[in-house]
Amino acid sequence: MTPGPCPVPPEVRLALSRPVIHHRTEEYHAIHAAVVDGLRKILKTEKNDVFLFASTGTGAMESAVANTLSAGDKAIVVRGGKFSERWGELCRAYGAIFIPLDIEWGKSVDPGLIEKQLTENPDVRVVFTTLCETSTGAKTDIEAIGTIVAGTGAILVVDAVTGLGVSEVETDAWGLDVVICGGQKAFMVPTGLAFVCVSEKARERVDLAKSPRYYFDYRRAKKAADKNETAWSAPASLIIALKESIDRILGEGVENVIARHALLSGALRTGVEALGLKVLADSPADGVTAILPPEGIPADDLRKTMLDKYGVHVAGGQERLRGKIIRIGTMGYCDTLDVIAALSALEMSLVNLGYTVDLGLGVRAAEEVLMATKKHKRHKK
Ligand SMILES: *Cc1c(COP(=O)(O)O)cnc(C)c1O
Repeated sequence: MTPGPCPVPPEVRLALSRPVIHHRTEEYHAIHAAVVDGLRKILKTEKNDVFLFASTGTGAMESAVANTLSAGDKAIVVRGGKFSERWGELCRAYGAIFIPLDIEWGKSVDPGLIEKQLTENPDVRVVFTTLCETSTGAKTDIEAIGTIVAGTGAILVVDAVTGLGVSEVETDAWGLDVVICGGQKAFMVPTGLAFVCVSEKARERVDLAKSPRYYFDYRRAKKAADKNETAWSAPASLIIALKESIDRILGEGVENVIARHALLSGALRTGVEALGLKVLADSPADGVTAILPPEGIPADDLRKTMLDKYGVHVAGGQERLRGKIIRIGTMGYCDTLDVIAALSALEMSLVNLGYTVDLGLGVRAAEEVLMATKKHKRHKK
């Protein structure tokens, strides 16, 4: 239950064992087309381009910077955690000038601050944001930011690597210009795939940008995508697996997938708070929950006890949150009893480490949340 890589369902693992196919064939073209069509449905876009890359999410992030900015161009970077800080590092690597909008880790940006910066800096070309900041579990109001940026000449880039397939993303309705996604989070495939969704407005910037680019050149990607191919050798086996995951998501229904993530993470947060622990994020995301342990209990001891004694693998904190939090992922192939198991392991580990708490308190609070909804259908079979 880490926030990535996330569990891979059995039928997706089986798909990975199919014969390896060539990527310049009719057979591959049909799979590629189905994957792009499915991703468009999940991204809620009618006609924006979707490019698949053999890379991790960071490669797709780099592609967004390289394809939309020239050295000396101005951008806004919202920073509130390890992943959103990466946008600033990438801008620096490409010589772009960025206005940092720094927020306390665990908080979410006030969209009004972006509006203010855009008014004061009409030469800003790109706004870089993060839907779910995986290092803090905080969610950003991308809908509000999208409405603001859409009314300007700037484009909006969203890192949705742990947001898409977890919570609502309305690419067209919210005016999102570049959406970055990765395979190993809510898309339930092994690490190695990234995809980007690019709007018409962004495509105009791609033609104007002068940054050096080759592997990740969206112009080459577009030519290939129009033929249901990738510019370079496609990781066909991973894409076959991705098709299986997408079929699973569409079979459950995108709205139901989102509702399930909200239910599971909501139950987890309720259970955690019943134990007297604090959730770090003010506006928590539904794919990952960052939790502050009680006073006197080191977060890494808690994490290690959960893994070594009870076999529940959760993540620790990163950078300035190292040793201060644990992070529990509830993404993709995750169901009610995973949350119960995690809470149970959390309770027992807390008691093992000397924290006084009634066993069953968190589990019970979570069960009450889970039982209060009639809509939930069993996800794992
Ligand atoms: C996982 C993740 C990424 C991509 O990281 P890679 O290690 O390159 O796959 C990017 N952004 C966020 C918010 C993430 O959680």
